[in-house]
Amino acid sequence: MTADPARREGLRTRLEQVRDRLARAEQTAGRERGEVDLVVVTKFFPASDVRHLISLGERVFGESREPEAGRKVDEVARGLTGSAADVSMTDLAFDMIGSVQTKKARTVARWARRVHSVDRDRLVTALDSATTSAREDHTRSEPLGVLLQINLDGDPTRGGVLPDELPALADLVVESVSLRLDGLMVIAPQSHTPEHWMEQTARHRERFVERYPQAKELSAGMSGDFETAIAHGSTCVRVGTAIMGDRPLISH
Ligand SMILES: *Cc1c(COP(=O)(O)O)cnc(C)c1O
Repeated sequence: MTADPARREGLRTRLEQVRDRLARAEQTAGRERGEVDLVVVTKFFPASDVRHLISLGERVFGESREPEAGRKVDEVARGLTGSAADVSMTDLAFDMIGSVQTKKARTVARWARRVHSVDRDRLVTALDSATTSAREDHTRSEPLGVLLQINLDGDPTRGGVLPDELPALADLVVESVSLRLDGLMVIAPQSHTPEHWMEQTARHRERFVERYPQAKELSAGMSGDFETAIAHGSTCVRVGTAIMGDRPLISH
């Protein structure tokens, strides 16, 4: 299906390690095997890597930048139509995990299953109208899943919404035409331990789910801290480096 067997082998080895870590973390936390979803973060890496990962059984990918993401999704789609592979685009999901500029809402609505990083009113409005348009012109059929990103330490450069502001933003998503409120997302700040932040996250989430019982997803945990996140209720880990290797040194 794809060239470069050495690259595929490297991905296979690291993917196996991450799958083992994930299974052990689920077991330790007393959770069902396979209960936590793995999103493989392929930002900065080419479509050929996504194809390798598909051949290794992965189906969900995380991207954080436009136009890189949209182009890559198109390239993956073209590769699938040409081949006799038993995988089609409807089997795959691409999630937007990085901050979204409002003006990029239209392109994101074209390819994303879900946006993990929704953190302001204007973005909700832009994603809703973009998704409605995409459904009208049959670029997509499903609603766009939305996770609200919580800002845990109040640092305004980090993105995310303060916990107190979650209900107002969630209500806007619930009242939208084409968005579906799926849950919450966090990135643990570097200060303090992951344990500290994931405990806080679990508390915010408990309160949130009382009010929005349909929004049970918790996207939490990356290469370095996903075991801790799983211990505190994460339903979805976003793992880049531990599978892909170090990202090429390009500035964000
Ligand atoms: C890059 C990125 C990840 C993956 O981080 P790793 O430490 O490489 O696993 C997860 N979440 C978000 C929002 C990211 O931007």
